[in-house]
Amino acid sequence: MSKVVFDHVTKYFGTAKAVNDAHFTIEEGEFFTLLGPSGCGKTTLLRTIAGFYRQEEGHIYFGDQLIDDVPTHERNIGMVFQNYAIFPHMTVFDNVAYGLKARKVSKEEIRTRVLEALDMVELTHLKDRIPSNMSGGQQQRIALARAIVIRPALLLMDEPLSNLDAKLRVKMRTDIRKLQKDLNITTIYVTHDQEEALAVSDRIAVLHNGTVQQIASPQEIYLYPQNRFVANFMGTSNFLDGTCEAGDTLSNPANIRLMGLETELPLLKPHSGKVLFSIRPERVKLSPEPSVEHGYQGTIDEVTFLGEKVSYTVKMASGESIEVHDHSVYTRDIYKPKQPVYLDLGLSQSVIYNGSGE
Ligand code: ATP
Repeated sequence: MSKVVFDHVTKYFGTAKAVNDAHFTIEEGEFFTLLGPSGCGKTTLLRTIAGFYRQEEGHIYFGDQLIDDVPTHERNIGMVFQNYAIFPHMTVFDNVAYGLKARKVSKEEIRTRVLEALDMVELTHLKDRIPSNMSGGQQQRIALARAIVIRPALLLMDEPLSNLDAKLRVKMRTDIRKLQKDLNITTIYVTHDQEEALAVSDRIAVLHNGTVQQIASPQEIYLYPQNRFVANFMGTSNFLDGTCEAGDTLSNPANIRLMGLETELPLLKPHSGKVLFSIRPERVKLSPEPSVEHGYQGTIDEVTFLGEKVSYTVKMASGESIEVHDHSVYTRDIYKPKQPVYLDLGLSQSVIYNGSGE
């Protein structure tokens, strides 16, 4: 087990910063995910941990040990990649045994440990088979067994589920999470898939242009995104410009001006001047009639039935379009295009940024 410390790590390619001043600690036994869109620097950061790249600035520690100049094979890490990287003509058993043979482990111990690892990934029954004609999911399990059989201090995974179909991805991510908890192995996981990150992680670091935007638990990242980029990347949000005047307590509500209406609203934090509201589509409630809560008027523009929910685009009287996700598909009629509706924006639970939320 090992914690990993990034101490102001910066990695350049030419003059471009692929990783910009990464400064955080991954705790022992933690499942930590690097999440972000293509090109944000996830793989580069993972590769500096593995020792494939050397950062130009800052230091990396495993526990108290500075590992900047420790070669990859001495870092005691297990790795799983998107493309499995297994030997297609070796049996499953020999694939998993490979790293132990290279470490000159005794034959007897190799057998015990390989069978144990295969059992963990539920592949014992296929141990004598050749992987080349196995499914993607099975091949990825071999790669996983091969990574954990060496009992690494750290497990690194780079988009390990990207080549699998949607259903298998969900099954595999649950299995990986369970295995990681059973082994209590510090794991750093790279993905661009928000849902996957939310499902498996203890904490997530969201990256953008090489810079960490926020590090927090899945729930916190989703409910309280640090800025507009995170709010937009982690799910869907309606971003609405407004103004806000003072107020920071229940007894001293703020004066909000949004889409042509003025309301009083108790806020957790004081804001004043130009603000940006970030409102999740599932927090907006529709009603056919106006009420105190349903004060914003609009007209249904588009209706998309998605099974578990209906997605509406509502054209507001003030000109904006607002996306609404209604999960009450079993209990109410679906609104029709052109139907007038009144919106409860759930403003008191919305996230408010100063300025434009950058
Ligand atoms: P993806 O999800 O597409 O793999 P990523 O988030 O893992 O993206 P990186 O591969 O880490 O992003 O790339 C970060 C930035 O560094 C990108 O702008 C990329 O073009 C650049 N980059 C990555 N590897 C190299 C390299 N070997 N040489 C030059 N530039 C590179």
